[in-house]
Amino acid sequence: MAIERTLSIIKPDGVEKGIIGKIIGRFEEKGLKPVAIRLTQLSKAEAEGFYAVHKARPFFADLVKFMTSGPVVLMVLEGENAVARNREIMGATDPKKADAGTIRKDFATDIEKNTVHGSDSVENAKIEVSYFFPEVQVHAYEWKKLA
Ligand code: GDP
Ligand code: MG
Repeated sequence: MAIERTLSIIKPDGVEKGIIGKIIGRFEEKGLKPVAIRLTQLSKAEAEGFYAVHKARPFFADLVKFMTSGPVVLMVLEGENAVARNREIMGATDPKKADAGTIRKDFATDIEKNTVHGSDSVENAKIEVSYFFPEVQVHAYEWKKLA
């Protein structure tokens, strides 16, 4: 199994709901280690650039508006198969279709305000991590977890 890094975002609805800690806790419990974290508010240009692949989609303008509507938490998560593992922990894009026990099933409001972002491939993860975090802001460490 490969150790990977992936980009995770706690979206404005997750920050507003006061569940930053709960979400990070789920990642830690499930073997994904935060190796970079920053709370920030995205500019329109940052959100448009980040979601450029969705530019032609009908929901693009609304998505950019939502993603810039309040603070977000940007994170790099590290672990075995981190990209796919993060997507499993998040659940499906539409919370109505998300499996029980996933973040989106438990916390999301709707298909847009769905609480978390996660990179969808190893290749995109590299691009997305470097979009927000220069390498010097990512700090690897070993876990010595309590039993
Ligand atoms: P993800 O990879 O599971 O986050 O989903 P996508 O990459 O397909 O879409 C990016 C984000 O756009 C989603 O997480 C939602 O916030 C939003 N989104 C996706 N589909 C829709 C839609 O049909 N309507 C609206 N309003 N937003 C959507
Ligand atoms: Mg996506």
